[in-house]
Amino acid sequence: MNKKKRIGLTTAIFIALLGGAAVGVFLHYAVPAGTFRDEFLINGVFYVVGNGFVRLMQMLVVPLVFCSLICGSMAMGDTKKLGKIGVKTLAFYIATTALAITVALLLANVIDPGKGLDMSSIETAQVAIGEKMSLADTLLNIIPTNPIGALANGEMLPVILFALMVGIILAKLGENAETVGNFFSQFNDVMMEMTSVIMKLAPYGVFCLIAKTFSGIGFDAFIPLLKYMAGVLLALAVQCTVVYMAMLKGFTGLSPWMFLKKFLPVMGFAFSTATSNATIPMSVDTLHEKMGVSKRISSFTIPLGATINMDGTAIMQGVAVVFAAQAFGIGLDMSDYLTVILTATLASVGTAGVPGVGLITLSMVFNSVGLPVEAIALIMGIDRILDMCRTAVNITGDAVCTTIVASQEKAVNREVFENPKAGSEPETEG
Ligand code: ASP
Repeated sequence: MNKKKRIGLTTAIFIALLGGAAVGVFLHYAVPAGTFRDEFLINGVFYVVGNGFVRLMQMLVVPLVFCSLICGSMAMGDTKKLGKIGVKTLAFYIATTALAITVALLLANVIDPGKGLDMSSIETAQVAIGEKMSLADTLLNIIPTNPIGALANGEMLPVILFALMVGIILAKLGENAETVGNFFSQFNDVMMEMTSVIMKLAPYGVFCLIAKTFSGIGFDAFIPLLKYMAGVLLALAVQCTVVYMAMLKGFTGLSPWMFLKKFLPVMGFAFSTATSNATIPMSVDTLHEKMGVSKRISSFTIPLGATINMDGTAIMQGVAVVFAAQAFGIGLDMSDYLTVILTATLASVGTAGVPGVGLITLSMVFNSVGLPVEAIALIMGIDRILDMCRTAVNITGDAVCTTIVASQEKAVNREVFENPKAGSEPETEG
């Protein structure tokens, strides 16, 4: 795909991030308060452009999640044909995501990324602190009494349930409902295109959001943001090198070191594109040529994983929840954390494997525990680099689960896996 453009956008976002921070800090310390600084710049241009961008992102959430979940679960519906393999893969995907978010929540609570940052001062009127609900009601509310109402109100959990059911039934009906299935997959393409168009505005949005934030709190925001980044990166590293590798060793006996060594180029590709979808062919090929994993399995599990299994994204969302709760001084209890684990697991299913979507579905995780989406504005500026890192973890999770399932199905050629030179002879694939 248009790799060049993406790299251009990444650079632009970084420049916007640094520029916004510099301008914000300058305004905070060097420009005296007054109409020009406060009314025109901070609460005028920065506020309108920055929040305009946030609203554009929010505009995408309901239709994007709805369509991409229908498409994802249509693919899941097909898993019936693959019976045991499909169910096992799904179980691994869901379990690794739940584990990932748990690791993230635990680490974030140790690092305390949002402590010391007082965001309540820059909280705006549009931010609504959601009502707290009991776990029983939260669970019951997953079932929409009126799915159209849930869509209109942006209630994500009911939307997800409804979308999952529509997708599974579409898969079951197959050709009989081809037109509806095609409609949703084409609408999904439309939403993906809209996402990439809106992402092009990201540098402007990021510049204004960051400038506004830093002009309000000066250097106070640096340390919490660094801690947030460190929290996400640490949790990603733990997931990748401890959780996945222990699973690989435990379930298959294969060498984690060999796996990582051979899979590293695919991770590098995912890192540079921040797009799980784009790595599907390379993943399937690497697993086959270098690790002896049967394509019969991987050609099904890898695309499915790139659509529904986003452990790295779930990790970012877990750390972001703790960060936002601390920055806004909102206490979270055990039932909130369980809700976060549930919603972030579902959000990971609903996150499309393209750049930046994890940040969009984050608003649904925030909503589920009544956190203000305003906090997303702050982390949005540094999200691109984290997006690149979490995408590498997202696709590693898919590959580890695939290798485990394939090994249990005796579909891994261990000689190929253990041969350090396997797949190095040039071999092309169509
Ligand atoms: N960029 C991620 C991926 O493609 C999704 C996200 O977290 O935004 O896997």
